[in-house]
Amino acid sequence: MITVRVPAKVNVQLGVGGLRADGFHDLANVFFAVALGDEVTASDSSEGITLSCSGPDADAVPLDDSNLAARAARLLAAHHGLADPGVHLHIAKAIPVAGGMAGGSADGAAALVACDALWKLETPFETLLELAAELGSDVPFALLGGVALGRGRGEILEPLAVEGTFHWVFAVADGGLSTPAVFRECDRLRDEAGTGSADTDVPTPDADPALLAALADGDAVALAAALTNDLQLAALSLRPALAATLRAGTEAGALGALVSGSGPTCAFLAKDADGAAAVAAALRASGTCRTAHATYGPVPGAAVA
Ligand code: ATP
Repeated sequence: MITVRVPAKVNVQLGVGGLRADGFHDLANVFFAVALGDEVTASDSSEGITLSCSGPDADAVPLDDSNLAARAARLLAAHHGLADPGVHLHIAKAIPVAGGMAGGSADGAAALVACDALWKLETPFETLLELAAELGSDVPFALLGGVALGRGRGEILEPLAVEGTFHWVFAVADGGLSTPAVFRECDRLRDEAGTGSADTDVPTPDADPALLAALADGDAVALAAALTNDLQLAALSLRPALAATLRAGTEAGALGALVSGSGPTCAFLAKDADGAAAVAAALRASGTCRTAHATYGPVPGAAVA
């Protein structure tokens, strides 16, 4: 039996370019791995690839072939030419589902590592990264962890230097938001504003030097000032109630606040661990979210526990 721990991510910068002809957007995406994470346990099975899930959001996780953990197991088996792969994958789910924290991608990355160990395949890390990119744009980062700049669809990763530990709070909303729907709303808002939404209209995004310096210096105040998410307006447009969540965390003393990825989870940067605990308690009491978790990062990517 192999258990793999895998982090969730928050994008400290999510720069969204225009819509490309292939339907994707060019991104300048600074991924940050946080200790809030899932655990995927792989055990032998003679019944093919089977799944189970536990945790408060377990009912929202599909247990069919569409689950990214099952897809990862199938892809790894096919890559190695395993004719009749058998594994049971149990997902202990702590990452909010459809929450903008790449929970499904995390489980895909964890399943690659867990099945690789269970089946004793010793797949090179570079190959796991390539398989991860086939599964989805956010999966390679869940393998890598730490902090990284993602380009292209987000899958071309460059690890970034970070000093020390940053303290975060995540406010979990009721229900999720569909990532494609949030990108579509971003395009719609750009068209409505008259700026256009195609890649010929919108400048290609780039990493913000002030944000990179704040990470390298371990400067939480500077990082808070540099947090940006080009999907935030779209997430707020689809879920206006998130404005109250962002306000509640800011009023409780967070240094900075933003929607995490495509939302609806909201992320707050705190001064230190005590500050994060206080912001989380205030958010839970505010009635503007389902729950709130204090956590920290960066942490490593998917690894055997
Ligand atoms: P991202 O930030 O990468 O856009 P997200 O965090 O908003 O994603 P996920 O939790 O990854 O969203 O879930 C998106 C959808 O993916 C879910 O609604 C579910 O149908 C599907 N899904 C597939 N596999 C999983 C999984 N292992 N865990 C959760 N959802 C999964």
